[in-house]
Amino acid sequence: MSVDDVRRSVSELHQELVRNQLVAWTSGNVSARVPGEDLVVIKPSGLAFDELTPESMVVVDLEANVVEGEYAPSSDTATHCVVYREMPEVGGVVHTHSPYATAWAARGEEIPCVLTAMADEFGGPIPVGPFALIGGEEIGRGVVETLAGHRSPAVLMRSHGVFTIGDSARSAIKAAVMCEDVARTVHLARAHGDVEPLEPDAIDALYDRYQNVYGQH
Ligand SMILES: [Zn+2]
Repeated sequence: MSVDDVRRSVSELHQELVRNQLVAWTSGNVSARVPGEDLVVIKPSGLAFDELTPESMVVVDLEANVVEGEYAPSSDTATHCVVYREMPEVGGVVHTHSPYATAWAARGEEIPCVLTAMADEFGGPIPVGPFALIGGEEIGRGVVETLAGHRSPAVLMRSHGVFTIGDSARSAIKAAVMCEDVARTVHLARAHGDVEPLEPDAIDALYDRYQNVYGQH
């Protein structure tokens, strides 16, 4: 995959955030690592989602310096770059303020693993990461430190929003969509009664089946 292929893919994948109603106005972003190179393709700062094109994407190095592009990169670029530097297995990163998941982040409360679909995708609760101001590397360090001890590809950054990781940008988007879906369902369940976390053995069995057996192989 060339840099141009990654530009095209990242540009198109931003429309999934719109389609899945995970973003408002210009908030939210997707990035992807360029395979085999220390480069990342990320959304430009402040452009509307329907203005995004492959050419408007910004290419940065892993220190968040612009390598190619006519626009300034997303204000979350430093965060994405910390994740790519510290987690070599990560190929894509997504950030949203999707409303139900961000409501859990606003309370600083992890989403308990009370659904089989959560055990499948997240392998446990969706954890909360520390509060950090935007712009520097602190958010990225919080994302990495929180996800290091978890199977979850999603973290709720306190009083901020959702960051997800994946082996590709598409799988990070899937995690962001599923995170919002379970955040909404568990919120609705809790509004009318108590919820009961699944047993750890059941979570392990579900996670293993979904990650290794489910789907087309
Ligand atoms: Zn944000």
